[in-house]
Amino acid sequence: MANGYCVKCKTSREIKDAKQITMKNGRPATQGLCPVCGTKIFKIGGSASPTTPTTPAS
Ligand SMILES: [Zn+2]
Repeated sequence: MANGYCVKCKTSREIKDAKQITMKNGRPATQGLCPVCGTKIFKIGGSASPTTPTTPAS
């Protein structure tokens, strides 16, 4: 199950109705809805990709 950051809840939420999309630059992303408030959640990186550029390395 994919998780993403909800800007309205200001916390990480499980992405409801998550679907894999491809951004204009060809990178995979996950798009869905916050199960709590219904805000659209957009997360760069597909579930198949182990590398998430948004994750701080150290
Ligand atoms: Zn939310």
